[in-house]
Amino acid sequence: MHAVAPGRILLVEDERPIAENIIFALEQEHFTVKWVSKGGDAISALPVEQPDFFILDINLPDMTGFDVCRAIRKAGNQPVLFLSARQEEIDRIVALEIGGDDYLMKPFSLRELVARVKAILRRTETRADTTAPAREVTPLVIDEKRSRVEYFGEKLELSKYEYFILCTLARRPGWVFSRDQLIDNAMGANSAPFDRTIDAHIKGIRAKLRKIRPGIEAIETQRGFGYSLRENW
Ligand code: CA
Repeated sequence: MHAVAPGRILLVEDERPIAENIIFALEQEHFTVKWVSKGGDAISALPVEQPDFFILDINLPDMTGFDVCRAIRKAGNQPVLFLSARQEEIDRIVALEIGGDDYLMKPFSLRELVARVKAILRRTETRADTTAPAREVTPLVIDEKRSRVEYFGEKLELSKYEYFILCTLARRPGWVFSRDQLIDNAMGANSAPFDRTIDAHIKGIRAKLRKIRPGIEAIETQRGFGYSLRENW
């Protein structure tokens, strides 16, 4: 049996004592755990936190863990372990049907939780490898310290918002960001959320990229969802 590299786990659980126990147990195993108690907070944390693994309680105050899982699956393939207090077979079936990797009934022992997390990671390791962005091969190089962007070796002159939008997309190539997520990340949550503003900025970025390399679409439109940065070049 080979060792599993610890990763970042997003825990969505509204009961603080349970969450604290889970965090303690996972941190003992060198995982980094980010905890939120609402589904909405989990979804808005997705592009920022970029978790490698999700633990989702099914009964949450604002939505179900299933809803959170659906949002995760729109954008990525990271493993999902569900927690449920309900002794219902249907939950287990739904959990697996919508793309969950495993299901744990409350109350559970922390040792079992850790064992399940590690087992899922071993099982899904190859899957995670194929979804990980291959940053070395991308022709887009962003130096966030100096706010400098190069595309195919040429310096790209971007406006402030264009720069922040491109940085957000580049943090996770292939990951679909909604217009709201791009607004929150690139412009701050206080700005007026005009969909078309984002579209205009994307148009501007595309024009500048095409000037350097015509015929290559670096930013992909995901109809109905938003935009993503090309993953395979
Ligand atoms: Ca709950």
